[in-house]
Amino acid sequence: RSNAEKFEFQAEVSRLMDIIINSLYSNKDIFLRELISNASDALDKIRFLSLTDKEILGEGDNAKLEIQIKLDKAKKILSIRDRGIGMTKEDLIKNLGTIAKSGTSAFVEKMQTSGDLNLIGQFGVGFYSVYLVADYVEVISKHNDDKQYVWESKADGAFAISEDSWNEPLGRGTEIKLHLREEAGEYLDESKLKDLVKRYSEFINFPIHLWASKEVDVEVPAEDDESSDEEDSSESSPSEEGEDDSEKSDDGEKKPKTKTVKETTYEWELLNDVKAIWLRNPREVTDEEYTKFYHSLAKDFSEEKPMAWSHFTAEGDVEFKAVLFVPPKAPTDLYEGYYNTKKSNLKLYVRRVFISDEFDELLPKYLNFLKGLVDSDTLPLNVSREMLQQHNSLKTIKKKLIRKALDMIRKIAEEDPDESTDRDNKDVEKSGEEDEKKGQYTKFWNEFGKSIKLGIIEDATNRNRLAKLLRFETTKSDGKLTSLDQYISRMKSGQKDIFYITGSSKEQLEKSPFLERLKKKNYEVIFFTDPVDEYLMQYLMDYEDKKFQNVSKEGLKLGKDSKDKDLKESFKDLTKWWKTALAKDNVDDVKVSNRLDNTPCVVVTSKYGWSANMERIMQSQTL
Ligand code: ADP
Ligand code: MG
Repeated sequence: RSNAEKFEFQAEVSRLMDIIINSLYSNKDIFLRELISNASDALDKIRFLSLTDKEILGEGDNAKLEIQIKLDKAKKILSIRDRGIGMTKEDLIKNLGTIAKSGTSAFVEKMQTSGDLNLIGQFGVGFYSVYLVADYVEVISKHNDDKQYVWESKADGAFAISEDSWNEPLGRGTEIKLHLREEAGEYLDESKLKDLVKRYSEFINFPIHLWASKEVDVEVPAEDDESSDEEDSSESSPSEEGEDDSEKSDDGEKKPKTKTVKETTYEWELLNDVKAIWLRNPREVTDEEYTKFYHSLAKDFSEEKPMAWSHFTAEGDVEFKAVLFVPPKAPTDLYEGYYNTKKSNLKLYVRRVFISDEFDELLPKYLNFLKGLVDSDTLPLNVSREMLQQHNSLKTIKKKLIRKALDMIRKIAEEDPDESTDRDNKDVEKSGEEDEKKGQYTKFWNEFGKSIKLGIIEDATNRNRLAKLLRFETTKSDGKLTSLDQYISRMKSGQKDIFYITGSSKEQLEKSPFLERLKKKNYEVIFFTDPVDEYLMQYLMDYEDKKFQNVSKEGLKLGKDSKDKDLKESFKDLTKWWKTALAKDNVDDVKVSNRLDNTPCVVVTSKYGWSANMERIMQSQTL
């Protein structure tokens, strides 16, 4: 085209496109849900803007917030159109080719090792999946602030942008035309498209219409006498015309006759049920529906079920509905840039209208692994995001969400038969459901345990609730995970403190001289081997009125022993001499120990000093 401007794709984007084009990935279906998800995002954006400026939507069809899918079988073109916000010329250049998103290289890297193309949407590069099925793609777009433009590319390293003077004006929004590859003919099949929308895009909150064909019976004038055979007339209803016909044929005159033929007509067919799942009664929503809803919300199409969910309505001063999910797996970058990046995985709606998924006021950082949605009736609609962010009700919403989230996690543990302490004594009936819940909490702990620890550090209000969720191994846990409640239930009579030791591995700790006497006296000691545990124990001082005692630190009391005093007395001279001898190396004190059994002596940390393990961590700065 004469007015086309040419651009090169940014290098990483180009590599990504090569990977997609040459991919042997068999599930090419995913492109459709990516396009529908983009259309839905664009509709969310214009609807949000229209809250403060009604004019922005325009009139007539333009104001219809919908998605349309159309097929051109002859030309092998599949089009997806939305009346969303659209893209200006600059948007087209930036969003579709020249500015690589942070996820681009991460995704390319992933695809080179063991990546699953299915995850493309999570990396923010879903658009390019169109090249799984098309070899030439046109994006026609009209934004309120600009003219209508066409972006086009054959994925050969370059794309072109032209002012659009030949297509029908869109009014507003975007139409994506996929010129399907030879082997992608199946996407010209209406029933295939209907299936895909049902499967992947059921929970899109805008109507999705397909320009669907329909066979209808129509009466047409018969060309000659032969065509007016009996079969035909029996099909057609006895209309007035028919009566006319027979009258005239009695006269034996030549007259017009009719016959019924099948004709294909087209009409818009609605493919999804737009009723939002979170507005429904939780009792009427099936597990399968929640799972599918999670997949579309989290853009996680791994087919795995979420570990747990919580769907509730909050009433009172602040009213809202929410659905929270614990994903089946933690993303690999969950703790990357934990303290500096703003990440929130909750979508905020106000009275059914999507507002933002970048609100970090809804959940504390340590719960960022949850996915979900909040729909508030209390928050005002017609204010900016910044003003909403300041709104008082957000604090209440946050508080309730944390409670519900922690309840949901606690329930995973409660329902897990592996977690039950008196399991061996009970005749537990095995049901299918129980099988499914078995080992779920260990799975949760392995994926998200660190988040619980970060929560104990950060959230003083919920520290005790979070501590209940803590799991660890101990000198007596036999390689399994155990909890503080279980530890307490096994405490020896007269034992006041909860004993723990920190280090880099359980194997190393098991050999520690600090444990000798405790083991001999049959005390249980917790192993804390994660670097974050040192920080954790600076915040977790007590649990259920029991103090925590690091067994490598000063202050360990193992019950009174009458010999202790005598021993202390008889070694007085030695300890005194020793203390002066070591004074220049900053030893605080030298004492007769009651914690050793075979080892002659040990260096103990003072009560408020860093443990040896903490020194090690600070030196390597592992957190
Ligand atoms: P993501 O949707 O995660 O941002 P995509 O690769 O799917 O990543 O889309 C890239 C960008 O292109 C979007 O962020 C958006 O700015 C723009 N875009 C894609 N499709 C549309 C559309 N239908 N309407 C408006 N903008 C769109
Ligand atoms: Mg997308």
